[in-house]
Amino acid sequence: MTEYNQPISGNDLARFSGPGTFMRLPQATSLDGLDVAVLGIPMDIGTSWRAGTRFGPKQIRAESSMIRPYNMATGAAPFDCLQVADIGDLAINTFSLTDSLRIIEASYDAILRSSAVPVAMGGDHSITLPILRAMAKKYGPLAVVHVDAHADVNDNMFGEKENHGTVFRRAYEEGLLQADKTYQVGLRGTGYGASDFKEAQKWGFQQFPASELWHRSLNNLGAEIRRDIGDRPVYVSYDIDSLDPAYAPGTGTPEIGGLTTAQALELIRALRGVNIVGCDLVEVSPPYDTSGNTALTGANLLYELLCVLPGVATK
Ligand code: MN
Ligand code: MN
Repeated sequence: MTEYNQPISGNDLARFSGPGTFMRLPQATSLDGLDVAVLGIPMDIGTSWRAGTRFGPKQIRAESSMIRPYNMATGAAPFDCLQVADIGDLAINTFSLTDSLRIIEASYDAILRSSAVPVAMGGDHSITLPILRAMAKKYGPLAVVHVDAHADVNDNMFGEKENHGTVFRRAYEEGLLQADKTYQVGLRGTGYGASDFKEAQKWGFQQFPASELWHRSLNNLGAEIRRDIGDRPVYVSYDIDSLDPAYAPGTGTPEIGGLTTAQALELIRALRGVNIVGCDLVEVSPPYDTSGNTALTGANLLYELLCVLPGVATK
């Protein structure tokens, strides 16, 4: 029988003490035997408005120490089914975005040579492009569930082709994703013109604006996406700014009229059964998170993603 890593219980060691890892799991120095590798990518040099996401992984880990291992709503017990560890932060080069993206891709190449599913704590959204570059080498073009206020499909920003606003255009151009199996949920805000979002629809992206989701459960949308994906390998990229700033104010580019926390949970829970091969939670900016609720929400959404990974049973 495998001995699975367990988060340290709050009944054994007060929640406000102990290791600074995600959910106080063991820190691993090797990928051997891991089913899931949780990692931090502390970077904010690809952002266009407020910075601060370099502190995201540290704060998400801090808030995650309150999360308990059993999911009362869904019955999922991920730490009874998967070997999960925190493998620490990637050593990005905070003086060079280009070099940082190279480091992220190379790090993912190494992680993906193991059987561990990478679960990343950002970091601004520009981390997802090198992740997808590495993932596509292993899996081919991926289905992508992209939850975000923004489509992140700019051609460039200030002439720069790689930053947090261009990720999914680059991924489309480079053939990293299956365009007609790419789902963008929560889009909203102001733009420079209709084509800001709509051009991506011509590529095949399926877009679900926040205003069409207001006052609605996301159970059905999640179930439709699940059916449409089938058994394809899917990458889930969760930008915390998909949530309304009332729930997640601590982020770089907030947009009003966003998803509720309940909708965020419904969408993830509906994805149970899809073949998630990697995921990230990006754009938590602790300096703008005066209540700590954004990092707390990010930590819980990462936990909910763990709960729907392949191999997690419910009981
Ligand atoms: Mn984004
Ligand atoms: Mn966004």
